[in-house]
Amino acid sequence: MKNNNSLYKILLVDDEKVIRETLCSILKEDGYGVSTARWGKDAVKLAREAKFDLAILDLKLPDMSGLDVLRRLKEYHPDICAVLITAYPTTESAIMAIQEEAYEYITKPFDISHVKLVIRRGIEEKQLALENKKLLSNIKNEKDKLETMLHIGHMMSSILNLEKLAEFIVQKISDVLKSRVCSLMLLDTEEEMLVIKAARGLDDVVVKTTRIKLGESISGWVAQKGEPVLVRNIEDDLQFGRANLPQYETKSLLSLPLKVKGIVLGVINVADKKHSEQGNVFTEDDLQFLAMICNYAAISIENAKLYGEVKNLAITDGLTNLFNHRYFQTQLGAEVARVQRYPRPLSLLMFDIDSFKQFNDTYGHPMGDTVLSQIGKMIRKTVRKVDITCRYGGEEFAVILPETHLKKAAVVAEKIRQNIEALQFETGKGKNKKMTVSGGVAEFNKGITKEQLVTFADGALYKAKTTGKNKICTHLPSK
Ligand code: GH3
Ligand code: MG
Ligand code: MG
Repeated sequence: MKNNNSLYKILLVDDEKVIRETLCSILKEDGYGVSTARWGKDAVKLAREAKFDLAILDLKLPDMSGLDVLRRLKEYHPDICAVLITAYPTTESAIMAIQEEAYEYITKPFDISHVKLVIRRGIEEKQLALENKKLLSNIKNEKDKLETMLHIGHMMSSILNLEKLAEFIVQKISDVLKSRVCSLMLLDTEEEMLVIKAARGLDDVVVKTTRIKLGESISGWVAQKGEPVLVRNIEDDLQFGRANLPQYETKSLLSLPLKVKGIVLGVINVADKKHSEQGNVFTEDDLQFLAMICNYAAISIENAKLYGEVKNLAITDGLTNLFNHRYFQTQLGAEVARVQRYPRPLSLLMFDIDSFKQFNDTYGHPMGDTVLSQIGKMIRKTVRKVDITCRYGGEEFAVILPETHLKKAAVVAEKIRQNIEALQFETGKGKNKKMTVSGGVAEFNKGITKEQLVTFADGALYKAKTTGKNKICTHLPSK
């Protein structure tokens, strides 16, 4: 009991020296920390400078009333427990004491053991009240967290676009954990590298160029082990200790794996916790909360990836990985509609592999498939990223060239023809084989339809076939 009492500080205010001294020595004997004051103003000054758990106040002081002193003390310590003492008990002062929420009201002369009991109970009640307050605030905190969690979970599962989802996750996590920096990295399984998919608080160049090998640095370790990391101070961390990097303002960080069914998809990194009541060091609570978000996030990312793959399957040709015929039709339709509204150049290339039937007959269909796929790859490699390369049909390809005039398109087609001619195909029959393509080029002209544009390019391709193959012909618009 004595040990515990030493935690509590009592402010004793009475103008009677005997009472001050007697009570003080008794309370000190019981182990309490005691400060005494004779005047109200001295008591207020003491309360301003130090924290008190309980105040024993004489109602009648030379400079002010005990109730006034209590009012002032509460400004500094709203939870203070007050015991009022008076030699002149009146109904009025008792009512006022109640109004000021005094804990107890004692009359002089008093029985010392009664005073001791009152003080002990007062302190116990105050402790209980404080603990309740803390519990309540914890419950509220947990409730807020759960609500946030539900909201984030619900939102995440409704975003199917991977880019948008990654942005949303990063933004929510940095908001909820009140951190300046957050990044979501995804694992490129082929290269075994982590790349940043979305970030907050990081330089654009850092976002674009960061590549972290599995096992390398903190996030690489997290991705490899599939375990979370909470670093309180990077400079003296036993496992990851190093100098704090200049882009970070604080030394604490969190890094968690994004796992679905035990498989790591990526990592979430959080750093630079903004200063709050809990300081700017991440806590075990932060880690647990983030782990919950990461569970949801990982599932949503997996879903978005699957959705993306299915969507891709619907528009890609399985053999060449180029866009398929259906996608070609919709994209050409969209491009034609666009240049009809805002006149801009638009060209179309069509290719057909020369004497491909013969190749198939000689080397077999599987070998033919390889040729198809390699020629497709070469066409895509030769054109720009904005160009739309498609497998038009069996051994026919089409490329939509936005913002490109006929002359330039013909140059691109010729480049493609040459690049394919330069390829060597392994036939498995000793020597390598060369293949060629014929191509047709047409440009969109105001007033023609999408179908006409295709017919023009096809017509030019037919001309190339009938005038010797391995060449490019262009459709010349009638003036
Ligand atoms: P030309 O120079 O006139 O274009 O002659 P060609 O033999 O290339 O043309 P043709 O239309 O007579 O034959 C096309 C061949 O392309 C026949 C067909 O088996 C082959 N082909 C179409 N699709 C595929 C495919 O997916 N894989 C393979 N291996 N061959 C294919
Ligand atoms: Mg052919
Ligand atoms: Mg053909």
